[in-house]
Amino acid sequence: MPMSCAVVAGPRGMTTSFRPGDPGYDDYRKPLNPELDPRPTLVVRAETTDDVRAAVRTAHEQSLPFAVQATGHGTHVAHDGALLLNTSAMTSVLVDPVRRVARVAPGTRWGDVLRAAAPFGLAPLSGSSPDVGVTGYTVGGGLGWLARAHGLACDSVLRAQVVTADGVLRTADADRHPDLFWALRGGGGSFGVVTGLEFRLYPIPAVLAGAVTFDRSRAADVLAFYRHWIDRIPDALSTAIVLTRDNTMTIKAMYAGDASDGRRLLSPLFTAAGPAVTDTMNVLPYADAAMGGTFARTFDQVTTLDDDLTAALAAEPDCTVEIRHWGGRIATDEGAAAHRDAPLSVILDRVPTATTAAALTRRGHGSSFLNFLPDPSRTATAFTAANWSTLRSVKAAYDPANFFSTGHTVPPTTVTQAA
Ligand SMILES: Cc1cc2nc3c(=O)[nH]c(=O)nc-3n(C[C@H](O)[C@H](O)[C@H](O)COP(=O)(O)OP(=O)(O)OC[C@H]3O[C@@H](n4cnc5c(N)ncnc54)[C@H](O)[C@@H]3O)c2cc1C
Repeated sequence: MPMSCAVVAGPRGMTTSFRPGDPGYDDYRKPLNPELDPRPTLVVRAETTDDVRAAVRTAHEQSLPFAVQATGHGTHVAHDGALLLNTSAMTSVLVDPVRRVARVAPGTRWGDVLRAAAPFGLAPLSGSSPDVGVTGYTVGGGLGWLARAHGLACDSVLRAQVVTADGVLRTADADRHPDLFWALRGGGGSFGVVTGLEFRLYPIPAVLAGAVTFDRSRAADVLAFYRHWIDRIPDALSTAIVLTRDNTMTIKAMYAGDASDGRRLLSPLFTAAGPAVTDTMNVLPYADAAMGGTFARTFDQVTTLDDDLTAALAAEPDCTVEIRHWGGRIATDEGAAAHRDAPLSVILDRVPTATTAAALTRRGHGSSFLNFLPDPSRTATAFTAANWSTLRSVKAAYDPANFFSTGHTVPPTTVTQAA
């Protein structure tokens, strides 16, 4: 990696492991979700790739289920009785500004990459929060605000170092273990422990980004307008409409291009929404564009926003609803992750009313997205049938005994799938 520059380096020291009752056990066992109170048998806080390999060996020797956690943002099940590998000490970012590539260690958060890439005018395909872990986000697909312009994060991965179920450290890229490489780009964390990830950066020093808030009363009309407006906008423009519990409607947007073009493109949508209450749209460094997200109790991909669905979503009481536009480069790339042809997604922060649920089912794409799917019994719905079948074959080749079987799991073809 020529002209690389070490920007962030994590702490160095002895590997530590914790059993119940040890000081430190509570610090490293917990995920972000406060409803989960996991009781792993052993927590290993790795510092090096050799520590990761040793943890995999230990789990085999002690017949412990194995789980990995970096930040805890995507941990949906309590890893009771498991060996929980904590990678939070393994943080580093190397940026090669010439090749426009970053290389990170597995505990690295997006904020570290944003800070490291920004001085070179480069941007990673990060998501809504700088606190999310790069590795978990990327192996789960990675939908960021630049995805319509440059694709899902997993599609920009160039190389992964991964400790597979047999404890061997492998390099997966287009030439070496291409099947594993394909599976790691969106298939989730059940193919091995990624110990290093190399991915593309994009020359985007500044963006037009922010949120404009309106009264919610015109929501149904705005969604009906949005249905057709999204067909006319370029891939460099990403938008979402958020209907909030406090009766406001927020239009979030990011345009990776000339700001005056962005404002002109957005103008019809803002006009349809009426007078703005607040407006934070501004030109700012990509690294400073905090777009926020909506907690996903339910996530659906939909084929269109028909009248029934727009009316139901607009009338959904005591609920935050986020309607997001996909498409663009997401639809044309061909990685393992996601249902590429879904033009829109709908997130609700609580279980929808029967009317909305019925409208979502009617217009539902019948699919989900791994990173926004809290229910591991529905993992298969995050993939097309063809990709799911290929992922299961790759899993059989690298992890036939289903060693990596906690959380979202792709069962090997030899294992009968639970109904
Ligand atoms: C506030 C918030 C904002 C979010 N915004 C977005 C967004 O904009 N776009 C988007 O796509 N997603 C988003 N997500 C979802 C997020 O990408 C996933 O939850 C992701 O799994 C988080 O990864 P993590 O490493 O931070 O979490 P962790 O809980 O530490 O890990 C989650 C899972 O990632 C896998 N994993 C982690 N480390 C490794 C490793 N070294 N090797 C192999 N597998 C590993 C494992 O399967 C693990 O169970 C958001 C989540 C939150 C909570």
